[in-house]
Amino acid sequence: MLNNSYVKRVYDSLVLKNSNEKEFLQAALEILASLEPYVECHPEIEKNKVLERFVEPERFIQFRVAWVDDKGEVQVNRGYRVQYNSSIGPYKGGLRFHPSVNASIIKFLGLEQVLKNSLTSLPMGGGKGGSDFDPKGKTDHEIMSFCQAFMTELYRHIGEDTDVPAGDIGVGGREIGYLYGQYKRIQNKNVGVLTGKGIPFGGSLGRTEATGYGLCYFTEEALRVMRQDSFKNKTVVISGSGNVAIYACEKATSLGAKVVAMSDSNGYIYDENGIDLVIVKEIKEVKRGRIKEYISSVPTAKYQEGARGIWQIPCDIALPCATQNELDLEDAKSLAKNGVIAVCEGANMPSTLEASKYFIEHQVVYGPAKAANAGGVATSGLEMSQNSIRMSWSFEEVDKKLKEIMVQIFQNVYQTAISLGNPYDTVTGANIAGFDKIAKAMLSLGVY
Ligand code: NDP
Repeated sequence: MLNNSYVKRVYDSLVLKNSNEKEFLQAALEILASLEPYVECHPEIEKNKVLERFVEPERFIQFRVAWVDDKGEVQVNRGYRVQYNSSIGPYKGGLRFHPSVNASIIKFLGLEQVLKNSLTSLPMGGGKGGSDFDPKGKTDHEIMSFCQAFMTELYRHIGEDTDVPAGDIGVGGREIGYLYGQYKRIQNKNVGVLTGKGIPFGGSLGRTEATGYGLCYFTEEALRVMRQDSFKNKTVVISGSGNVAIYACEKATSLGAKVVAMSDSNGYIYDENGIDLVIVKEIKEVKRGRIKEYISSVPTAKYQEGARGIWQIPCDIALPCATQNELDLEDAKSLAKNGVIAVCEGANMPSTLEASKYFIEHQVVYGPAKAANAGGVATSGLEMSQNSIRMSWSFEEVDKKLKEIMVQIFQNVYQTAISLGNPYDTVTGANIAGFDKIAKAMLSLGVY
């Protein structure tokens, strides 16, 4: 996969040092491979060892999180924050609470975040964090206890001009509220140190919707430019039923599409009449239940155990919005066989390397995560601006800015891909467009 000897050397050394971190190596390989043409035209990158510095996080923090559950038992989890790259602004990136979280997942997400944040055109560096804590089945009180314990360590590493975390899998409005409450208690400060906050205490209107809406704005622009087409009258399949999936479903539907399937980690629902999102929101946002409960309200819909089968459903547009590596080469082939015209990623790295390569080779309109799902962090950037100037903008103002940012991200990625000879290679387009700014900043800032 790698042809350039310098890039290969950097990757080989990464493998030696991180041999058991498969998600991190997967993300690094995709990024490094696509940077080869850039490195070849820019000898200063090798001369100044920019790639070696770019793949190595500036700081990696791991900590113990001890807390007490409702039975009075002490529980111990592991917390992480990677402060990956601050060359263009304060570290910025979400916190993930999920039992699968480990150093590899946090580092892959952090590295992706560096390029994603650069693409937004806002001054944000890249970071990521989280814990192997599983919020599923926990009471509100246990969630609060965990969040307070987590922040009791994290607070010393973050700050409104240093590092500004947000939500991700398992971290939504409730968790951000508890985390921010604890930060305020310890620091006695009202500052924009977290984004995704509740509206009454400094949150931005539109942040909840931003990743899903932004994904659809990106997809709509890609369809318009690359196929003179749109969401109108298209059949859409969306994996997941969390924050990103729900608001992708809402926007795709409002743009004239019919969303026929959604999932969670247990299985997926298929509703040929189009998903009724009011029911999904009630199940997921209010009751925190399972997606299979949908069929109790809509008996004509079907539920299938096992999340992977969702990609066998024929659709025009697929929006993977659940988790990493949820769509492999076989899934990509069946989507293409069933006539998919666009696959745009709401989740981070949902397609395996083979699957994304297949989409590009088969000229499917492909929106890689770091470009297509950047609307969430972009709106977090807008929340930071509102907090700094102590103002709040209307939903319409934020949504308009989000749309402009997503259109500009698509154009930047697409024009870069064209300049490299293949308009469908949005992976190379996104990585090079994001990296260019980081590399220039790192070179200007001197060796660090
Ligand atoms: P949520 O926790 O709100 O939802 C996650 C959804 O994905 C749930 O429906 C969950 O099901 C499902 N899921 C998790 N693991 C699996 C699995 N192994 N197989 C199938 N389904 C699974 O998270 P978000 O919606 O916030 O995040 C979803 C994705 O989007 C992640 O990759 C995240 O990194 C990415 N993202 C999120 C942003 C944001 O603003 N929130 C911004 C940019 C990217 P279950 O309930 O069963 O676990």
